[in-house]
Amino acid sequence: MTFQFTEDQLSIQEMVRDYAEKEIRSRADEIDKTGRFPKENMDGLRELGVLQLTIPEEYGGTGVDDEITKALAVMEVAKCCASTAEILDVHYLSTDIIMRKGTFEQKALYLPQAAEGKLGGFALTEPGAGSDAGGLKTKAERDGDSYILNGTKCFISNLGPEEGNHFVVVAVTEPGIGTKGTTAFLVDRSMPGVSCGKTEDKMGIRGAAVSELVLEDVRVPSSAILGKLGEGFKIAMMGLDGGRIGIASQACGVAFGAIAEAVKYSGERVQFGKPISANQGLQWYLADMAVRAEAAWLLTLKAAALRQQGLPCTTAMAKWYASEAACYCCDLALQIHGGYGYMKDYPIERMYRDARILRIYEGTSEVQKMVVARAVMKG
Ligand SMILES: Cc1cc2nc3c(=O)[nH]c(=O)nc-3n(C[C@H](O)[C@H](O)[C@H](O)COP(=O)(O)OP(=O)(O)OC[C@H]3O[C@@H](n4cnc5c(N)ncnc54)[C@H](O)[C@@H]3O)c2cc1C
Repeated sequence: MTFQFTEDQLSIQEMVRDYAEKEIRSRADEIDKTGRFPKENMDGLRELGVLQLTIPEEYGGTGVDDEITKALAVMEVAKCCASTAEILDVHYLSTDIIMRKGTFEQKALYLPQAAEGKLGGFALTEPGAGSDAGGLKTKAERDGDSYILNGTKCFISNLGPEEGNHFVVVAVTEPGIGTKGTTAFLVDRSMPGVSCGKTEDKMGIRGAAVSELVLEDVRVPSSAILGKLGEGFKIAMMGLDGGRIGIASQACGVAFGAIAEAVKYSGERVQFGKPISANQGLQWYLADMAVRAEAAWLLTLKAAALRQQGLPCTTAMAKWYASEAACYCCDLALQIHGGYGYMKDYPIERMYRDARILRIYEGTSEVQKMVVARAVMKG
């Protein structure tokens, strides 16, 4: 076991850190206030080769096939702006599914678009099917060599009035047999019948658009199937397995970002004639935050390293622990700011709201506990 990053990993981490600190951080508050899409950030990340990091060079990508580098990039962005990290991460998730399960034609069509910055998304959730994906109602009915899709997906990230180019959509192809009757399709935003429904007004990550994906008599060729017929749930779980490392990476970034804000503020704020950081009570808060962030980081990078090697790993453990750690760190960091932390003048107010989603999307903490418990009991 080694705790050393490679030269390449370090240089990409440094490049992303530099860009995030110089450019992304300065826009984070305005993006939160306006809820606008952070186009400059995504353009900048594309210019650096980060948005298309894992896409092979023949498709216009950077060709860095490395889960650890991906995790480090998301962490650096999340330290500065959780909305931007979420957009990047969902794009990585959708791209990962296409790279792992796409046919030659699907890759040739969508990977160059993804590399160009046309955003991908992942559409599993429906109003009646959240934690329980067995409750999907979106139907895909065969018609000759095509399928006709009907249904509404909700809470779909990277989908807004302007944003979102292509989506991995899981739909029911054989009703009555549960998750084995679901299939994954690659659906293009430009297909007739595809539209963006309600765009959500969210508590946090306000720059990351989340909307309903409405599918009305959308005709897709059978060549749009990802993997095989009946593999929809399996593909979704495979995608979410990697996605959980992404959320855990966002969480680590948010946790480290919150610690930095707490250290800065507690060193500057003077009460009782000394900086508040001179009080052991607050130092212990910082120590508590630091150890949780470090444990989250280790679990996340362990999961990334194992996935990279194709070895089994419980990514749910990293997602659960890191998201809880991020919320814990933001809560204590806000407490350290006292009343000022409750005001929008300090970034911790935004970070506290941004962090809250980490315990919910791509599987709630409760669902992660179910997955971890199952793995523990299996031995
Ligand atoms: C901002 C945002 C972005 C999202 N992006 C996407 C996206 O891009 N694509 C996508 O497909 N989905 C997306 N989602 C959906 C997200 O993954 C779901 O919200 C999440 O999985 C939980 O589903 P639910 O909201 O229906 O809650 P429910 O499943 O209704 O759960 C409600 C509560 O019950 C608990 N619960 C449920 N079942 C159990 C059980 N068996 N044991 C114990 N507790 C249980 C849950 O943990 C939770 O606390 C997004 C959601 C949000 C809010």
